[in-house]
Amino acid sequence: MVPGFGGSTLRIDLSGGTVTRAPLDPAFARAWLGGRGYVDKIVYDEVPRDADPLGPENRLVVTPGVFSGHFAPSGSKCCFGAVSPLTNGAGDSTVGGHFGPELKFAGYDLLVFEGIATTPTYLFIDDDRVELRDAAAYWGHGTMDAERMLKEDLGEDVEIACIGPAGENLVSFACIGHDYGRQAGRCGIGAVMGSKRLKAIVVRGTKALPVHDLPALKASTMEIMKRTAQHPNMAPWQKYGTAMFIGWSNEHGVYPAHNFQTTYFERHPGIDGQTLVDRLLVSHKACFGCWMNCGKYSRASLPGREAVYVEGPEYETGALCGGNCGFDQIEQVAYVNWLFDRAGIDTMTGGGMAAFAMECYEKGLITRDRLEGHEMRWGSIEDLEHFVDMLVERRGIGDAFARGYASAAAQIGGGAERLACQVKGQGMSGYDGRPAPGMLLSYMTADIGAHHNRSWTITMDEDLGKNVLTGKAKVVVHLQHIRPFFDTVSCCRLFWGEVDVSDEEHIAAIRMMTGWHDLTLEEILLLSERVWNINRAHYLERNGGPGRRFDYPNARFYEEEVPTGPSQGARLTLEDLDLMLDEYYAARGWGKDGNPSREVLLDLGLDTCVANLEREGLLGTLTEPLPPVRGERYKPKAF
Ligand code: SF4
Repeated sequence: MVPGFGGSTLRIDLSGGTVTRAPLDPAFARAWLGGRGYVDKIVYDEVPRDADPLGPENRLVVTPGVFSGHFAPSGSKCCFGAVSPLTNGAGDSTVGGHFGPELKFAGYDLLVFEGIATTPTYLFIDDDRVELRDAAAYWGHGTMDAERMLKEDLGEDVEIACIGPAGENLVSFACIGHDYGRQAGRCGIGAVMGSKRLKAIVVRGTKALPVHDLPALKASTMEIMKRTAQHPNMAPWQKYGTAMFIGWSNEHGVYPAHNFQTTYFERHPGIDGQTLVDRLLVSHKACFGCWMNCGKYSRASLPGREAVYVEGPEYETGALCGGNCGFDQIEQVAYVNWLFDRAGIDTMTGGGMAAFAMECYEKGLITRDRLEGHEMRWGSIEDLEHFVDMLVERRGIGDAFARGYASAAAQIGGGAERLACQVKGQGMSGYDGRPAPGMLLSYMTADIGAHHNRSWTITMDEDLGKNVLTGKAKVVVHLQHIRPFFDTVSCCRLFWGEVDVSDEEHIAAIRMMTGWHDLTLEEILLLSERVWNINRAHYLERNGGPGRRFDYPNARFYEEEVPTGPSQGARLTLEDLDLMLDEYYAARGWGKDGNPSREVLLDLGLDTCVANLEREGLLGTLTEPLPPVRGERYKPKAF
């Protein structure tokens, strides 16, 4: 057994009702590290290319990586992954809180679910005792209610990951809830869980995690804790969390307002971090082992409605469910946050989808008769409540929205696809890329679609020049290799991004946990590059090629100029996007068509991808020789 890990894996066949335990393979652990690494390898190897993401052959992979459960900054995360019903490629989403650590304390590093249960089911793990149980009593309940009911029945000391009615009804952007307000939000993994009739995973773990060098890990973490406590960013993060960026994002002209029609929301002070703290804050909230406590537990009260409690709204919800939907009061945004959390819908794609519907209504593309007599006005809680009901219950046009952007745009007609702000079906995160071309390139090329955490470049866009296009692709590639590291080893990237805990300090912590003394940054970057190429191959094998055709956003982002605010006049053209894509593909060793080349795949040891892509005629042609140093080869000088 490798120190640092729980030591065991479980394979759960929901169709047959069986659970098989096996020890974690040390070679597999070293090769793929955990989290995203395990997810992307397993779904590539096991899910047939023509399998329905919501069918029995898809896998639901749950994996806390090596950091999870350790006293190190911050070993709190757990990754949930599958073939995504939203993007039709490999998808993953990571949640903080306490679920991942609890799984490790029970002794598990990896759960793989397959098949479909005949009736609603939950998995109960109580250290070595593992049982599939009847979930009929919890089915139909919202995520927070289901979590409370399960704790009442099983004890306050269990940790729970569960879905709400949206996941049960296979809404393609359903999320998985945990700890009354944290979510594995992106990629619709909650819908995959619902398709398997798996309401919840409940775990109690009471074992100790083995650590290779506990005194060294403890000393190093204490030193990092003392140092970061003095970091100038720590106090504002502890006080406001990510909500403080609502103001920043508006000042920098990258905030999405009214479905990304513009990048500045005049009334943003009503929903910013200061207003959240002044009007809603009940207490600060942290994930396991974290002293940054970016979570804000809030109470919001709207006239005529019961008060609601919610964790947030954090930045992305404050952007996509705030100004993007025309809400200008923090109580409204918190209430919308709660509505989506209760239903088990990702607030990011949920907010983006609601804003899309609002703009379609504004432009007359959707009328009352398709909304069961209701309207869909900017900033209307009543309209949004009704829209969420239609979505979750999949009534009328709500069913088309529940299937995703392409389905909704096709049903609406009239060129609605221009207004659907997404890439590869994933709703855009809360930053507009027109004034930040590197950010738009990050969205365009992210394996899971338009998600910011794969690569976030806005300050780099400003440093290198907002109008500059060239030279940014290499930075995007570099960030796309650094960032999977955090999702793979399951620690919070905010310590790296915000209070300067270095790559090397993270890698040193893994050496202390595991005894892998020879682990290097180069090995991690190489793993990231492997993961990135496996996912690209997987996407092409499922969706055909050329890859380039999937890498464009909707036309708003290359045809419309930003009309107001600090970024007024910012505009990109299709030629600009193609220029950036050319540079990006060359930096990755892919062909101009966006397909990975034989050379780069072989260099990464991905022979199976070569064989699969060759069979489908989907290999790209290399345009320039690969640089010789693997892993480090795309590292731009600025880093
Ligand atoms: Fe969780 Fe926030 Fe701490 Fe990260 S900084 S571990 S997201 S509380």
